[in-house]
Amino acid sequence: MIKYVPKMTSVVLEEIPDRVSLAVDISNCRGNCVGCHSPFLKLDIGEELTTGIIDALIADNFGVNCFLFLGEGRDPEALLALARHIRGAHPAMEIALYSGREEVEPAIWDAFDYVKVGPYRPECGPLNERTTNQRLYRVHHEESGMPGTVTSSPRRAKGRFAPHKGNPIPALPVRRLAPGIPVGAEDITFRFWRKGIDPNR
Ligand code: SF4
Repeated sequence: MIKYVPKMTSVVLEEIPDRVSLAVDISNCRGNCVGCHSPFLKLDIGEELTTGIIDALIADNFGVNCFLFLGEGRDPEALLALARHIRGAHPAMEIALYSGREEVEPAIWDAFDYVKVGPYRPECGPLNERTTNQRLYRVHHEESGMPGTVTSSPRRAKGRFAPHKGNPIPALPVRRLAPGIPVGAEDITFRFWRKGIDPNR
């Protein structure tokens, strides 16, 4: 089961570049970031995020074009099932995940169009600082051979998903793969540096 905090649900413009995102805060965070901005999200709070609730949220927020999970909870299969539902029921909607982990599984890369990795470290700063250890990736499924599916593919070599080890990774204003990031994933963290916004999670 994936739980979210209904009263924190909002439409946001800054978390995913060029997208109008419907953002839901997911509880039961399994992260342990030093300087966590929302420690209450580590608790088992909120309500179950169901496919019906997702449908209703999307219907109530006309114009959004990205569904953003702020956190991933402790039930990866349920999370992937929700992503699968969005992909099937709302094909025009992109799907994003803010993970606080250093690395995510191939099924996550397959299921989401945007993936943020890396725990928050105060000494490195948030996404809008060039010293940040966090990275936001745009997943080009057509290039990876994965057309937005949520299942792991045997075509993907295991070694391509080796851990991404935080700072320092150079700023990459052009397409280039960091070690361990799947083919088709583009580091777009630099977009935050240009705009100077403050997505501090
Ligand atoms: S991922 Fe977010 S909520 Fe979870 S520990 Fe890190 S800062 Fe806190």
